[in-house]
Amino acid sequence: MPELPEVETVRRGLERLVIGSPIAAVAVLAPASLRGDPASLIGRRFVRAWRRGKVLGLDLDDGRCLVAHLKMTGQMVFRGPRAAGPRAAGPRAVGPPAGGAEAWGAGHPNDSLIGSLPDNSTRVIVEFAGGARLYFNDQRKFGWLALMPQSQVTAIPLLAKMGPEPLDAGAWPAARERLRRRRRSPIKAALLDQSVVAGIGNIYADEALWASRVHPATPVASVTDRKLKELLTAAAAVMELSLSLGGSTDRNYVDAEGRRGAYLDFAKVFRRQGQPCPRCGQPIIKIRVAGRGTHLCPRCQRWRPNGIGGKGDKGGRRDKSARLETPPRR
Ligand SMILES: [Zn+2]
Repeated sequence: MPELPEVETVRRGLERLVIGSPIAAVAVLAPASLRGDPASLIGRRFVRAWRRGKVLGLDLDDGRCLVAHLKMTGQMVFRGPRAAGPRAAGPRAVGPPAGGAEAWGAGHPNDSLIGSLPDNSTRVIVEFAGGARLYFNDQRKFGWLALMPQSQVTAIPLLAKMGPEPLDAGAWPAARERLRRRRRSPIKAALLDQSVVAGIGNIYADEALWASRVHPATPVASVTDRKLKELLTAAAAVMELSLSLGGSTDRNYVDAEGRRGAYLDFAKVFRRQGQPCPRCGQPIIKIRVAGRGTHLCPRCQRWRPNGIGGKGDKGGRRDKSARLETPPRR
């Protein structure tokens, strides 16, 4: 599932490629994938691409917004001449000149990022004046696009409840408060809850817990503030690293030859079960926590339900709820 860095990578691509060009045609191949009247998009232009957690938005020049959620398998792919927007014009422009061909894609990493389109995962096609096309592909069909007034966007329940952005410097006080409300939850479940912190999914939760040496099943009540802050900082750091490597885009997705894409090269534990922990050499294991496949180092992330992050990890407060938790098997 695309997580914050992947969705931000999509946003940056859209910002670069689709802003400013008039929309010439819209084809909806799966009606459930787009809520709203596609014909109302014709003649309009996108003026801004934004992201909140894993939710994307393309603001239109008529006060509406095309909101997008990639869910499990969504991706955006751009093919054709570059947009003739302000970025492509003028002497300071960088990259290929306006009118040059462009192929770009990001989101769920599969062959549709690099193959010929439309294919059987294509749900919506937006065509711009000049012939460039934006494809919304979504194999599993859980993703969606929705047209709505910009003034209503923040009232979408998903966005209204969403926790702070982990990449914002000021995220800690709100994140702390929301984490503390989930005292009985395993820490990993709390990190995955979008109303606690925005944008963290399975990959970045596992990586942040490993970096902070916290067992993923530890109840939140047993983790000190110091350790919670360390976790949040670690999540932001690994997201920044992934973003700097380009997230999961066509550029580091290579599968036609059977080679794994570079998009998970930064990972220390995710999908590395059986490989040595980069810190201590103990083999990484995979267990289930909060219903999700979870990767951890059994030596660096020992099971300590009665307190973690205190002085020598012995100062953590004892909590009745912690004793209800049992160590995960396997
Ligand atoms: Zn280790």
